[in-house]
Amino acid sequence: MTVIQWFPGHMAKAKREVQEKLKLIDVAFELLDARVPMSSRNPMIDEILGQKPRLILLNKADMADEAVTEQWIRYFHDQGRLALPIDAQSGTGVRQIAAAAKEMVKDKFEKMRAKGIKNPRPVRALIVGIPNVGKSTLINRLAGRHIAKTGDKPGVTKAQQWIKVGKEMELLDTPGILWPKFEDEDVGYKLAVTGAIKDEILNLQDVAVYALRFLSTHYPNRLAERYGLDDIPDDIVALFDAIGRRRGCLTSGGAVDYDKVADIVLYDIRTEKLGRLSFETPASRT
Ligand code: GDP
Repeated sequence: MTVIQWFPGHMAKAKREVQEKLKLIDVAFELLDARVPMSSRNPMIDEILGQKPRLILLNKADMADEAVTEQWIRYFHDQGRLALPIDAQSGTGVRQIAAAAKEMVKDKFEKMRAKGIKNPRPVRALIVGIPNVGKSTLINRLAGRHIAKTGDKPGVTKAQQWIKVGKEMELLDTPGILWPKFEDEDVGYKLAVTGAIKDEILNLQDVAVYALRFLSTHYPNRLAERYGLDDIPDDIVALFDAIGRRRGCLTSGGAVDYDKVADIVLYDIRTEKLGRLSFETPASRT
């Protein structure tokens, strides 16, 4: 897992680095986590990308609630943006990317042809996104091979190279790494629940409380089924107790071990034991 300490200087530098790369490309792929598209978004993305054509990729769609992902696609569509659900790990949806990118820059390339350029170059693209959203996985998937992960830290640079993706697209081999909006507590919890930020950063029990409250409201049946509960207690401590007893998370004195319950719940969420989950909808974020 990537660990990046984002200080104001790092943010400014990350922004500058992305904007330098923008000069080289035709289209930016904004990679978001389909389970938390807004929370996994850089808060300054519109300013950073400016007018550059942008394709939104909702990654990890394999783990997200399909009905909610559909809502997000409509939401972005209503804002005039194309969003594609993908699973960079297995490759589902990845084949559509090059065709969509080409369509987005059609006008620019038409103009090049009109100026007499017979065989325009491949469409050039850059992946941008926050840490752990799946940038390296997608680069490797598009490249069809493993590309060394060297661009982990903002400020660590190396010679950039173009990766050929079929005949009609080229991708910069180092992604643009941007920061999440972590001054918002809700965003922090969602990124922690989905595993985008390290467990050491927030208190594990707090993260599990957040997750269980969310699941009690939005996916109560999944909770009931997974932990064999007849009903879901309203009281969060009672819910921890109920799960703890069902799972045998007890201290030697027979009390419920809340850290262990928190571990189990977060593990179950991140490994899809509770099914496909989305933690925000367009209605909850706008
Ligand atoms: P980066 O920091 O943005 O480059 O993120 P990585 O490519 O290192 O991915 C972070 C984690 O997410 C890794 O454990 C990947 O295996 C996982 N991952 C990436 N894409 C997907 C996806 O589409 N589906 C699932 N389930 N996991 C993914």
